[in-house]
Amino acid sequence: MTRIASHRGGTLEFGDSTPRGFKATAQMALEEVEFDVHPTADGAIMVHHDATLDGTTDRCGVIAELTEADVRSAVIDYGAGGHPLSLPELCAIFRESEVDFRCEIKPGVGGIPYPDFVPRVVEMLEREGMLHRTTFSSFLVPSLDALGKETDRPLLWLVSPPVLGQLGAPAVVETALAHDIPEISVHVDTATLSLKQTVNDAGLAFGCWAAHTAQQIEKAFALGVKVFTTDRPSLAIAIRDQQRGGSPR
Ligand code: MG
Repeated sequence: MTRIASHRGGTLEFGDSTPRGFKATAQMALEEVEFDVHPTADGAIMVHHDATLDGTTDRCGVIAELTEADVRSAVIDYGAGGHPLSLPELCAIFRESEVDFRCEIKPGVGGIPYPDFVPRVVEMLEREGMLHRTTFSSFLVPSLDALGKETDRPLLWLVSPPVLGQLGAPAVVETALAHDIPEISVHVDTATLSLKQTVNDAGLAFGCWAAHTAQQIEKAFALGVKVFTTDRPSLAIAIRDQQRGGSPR
């Protein structure tokens, strides 16, 4: 069965990484919630997509240079508002849910990985009782290397269209194998049956991300990918239910 991951708590349905989106996702008939993490200056870990507050909230600033209280005082730009959640707050929302975590390790401003961040994320998820339900993802191979050293939890490499285009499928697969990365995820628009076959033939799992329209979601199901992320989780569930003849999960 192809798994559905609610991207940032369903951005196109609930806003970007909003408390409302995550609470709604926790109640949905899907398998994973995708989210991104950044450190604050005072040692907290916040759930937010961008490394800054500038693009998605009413405040400005680099999260890694702000305190947790500063970040929490921001209001996310979207109808329902809400402030960026800390990682423990997100864990509390999903502890009783059947939806599992898909945690993306983000770099800081300029795409540079935060120093010593991965061990802290792993430790906090462990402390909050969610590590055993977490899959990790990153666009950055060094972050995946750091994860591999820190935990046995599953991880996957987010391969961007330029990286896929420049390396080509064989080198992407070689890189994944060389770094013990068991799963590759590509933008849904670059996913093809032959790419999936190449990846699967190497013993790696294949998924895709950014399946936001009905056509993209249908493509992900038709390819039979392991998992895909979507900003429209309710739509993805509706399409899956329809394909199953209207019977709910
Ligand atoms: Mg992400």
